[in-house]
Amino acid sequence: MSEKPLKAYHVGEGSEGEHVIVFATSGAAGRRQGGNELNLEFEEVQFCRRAPWADEFAGQRFIPAKAYHDNGWWLFCNHCETRLYEDAEDDDGNCRELVYDGQHAYCDQGCKDTHEQDIANANAKGEAFKAKALQERPYLTFTKWSIGWPRITQSAEYTFPGGKYGGSVRDEGDGQLNWYIAQADQEAWNAFRAQQAA
Ligand SMILES: [Zn+2]
Repeated sequence: MSEKPLKAYHVGEGSEGEHVIVFATSGAAGRRQGGNELNLEFEEVQFCRRAPWADEFAGQRFIPAKAYHDNGWWLFCNHCETRLYEDAEDDDGNCRELVYDGQHAYCDQGCKDTHEQDIANANAKGEAFKAKALQERPYLTFTKWSIGWPRITQSAEYTFPGGKYGGSVRDEGDGQLNWYIAQADQEAWNAFRAQQAA
C-alpha cells in the first residue's frame, strides 16, 4: 500500500474558539482541512496537533460522543444544548447520568426521550401532510416531498399533465395546505382543471 494512512489532528481556533478533529495524512493537510471546516483562513488556525486517541475513527462516519468525553472534550446536549462535561454534576452535586447515543450525548434519559419524541412528532406531522395533500389533489404527480424532522414547514412539489414547471404545496405549521402554481403554468393549469371538470 503506497497510500499514507489517515491520522487524526486536533485543529483549533484558540482556547476560546471552535475546535474540530479532522483526518489527514499530514499536519499541513490537517490544518487546511480543519480551517475549512471551521471557516478559517490558513493563518487563522491557532494550532493543529496530533490526536492519536482519535486515529481509530479514521474512515468512520463519526467519532462517538463518549470518546470525546473520555479525551477531555466537552459537548452540547443534543436536545437542550446544555454544555456537558464528562464529570458533569447536577445542581445538588450529584454526578449526572449522561446518556450516549453514537455521536450524540444527552444530559440524561429524559433529554434523549424528549428529543426522540420531538422527532417522532415532526415525522408524524410530515406523514399527515403527505396524506392530506394526496387526498386533496390525487390527480397530481408529486415529485418531491420535503417533510418531517427537523422541518417546521412541510412542503412538496408537483407536476400535472400539460404543465411545464408545476407547483408546490406548503403547510407553514398551522395544518392548512397552501397550493401554489408557477405563474408560467397558470394557463396550462386552468386548461387542465377545465378538462377535469368537463
Ligand atoms: Zn439536555
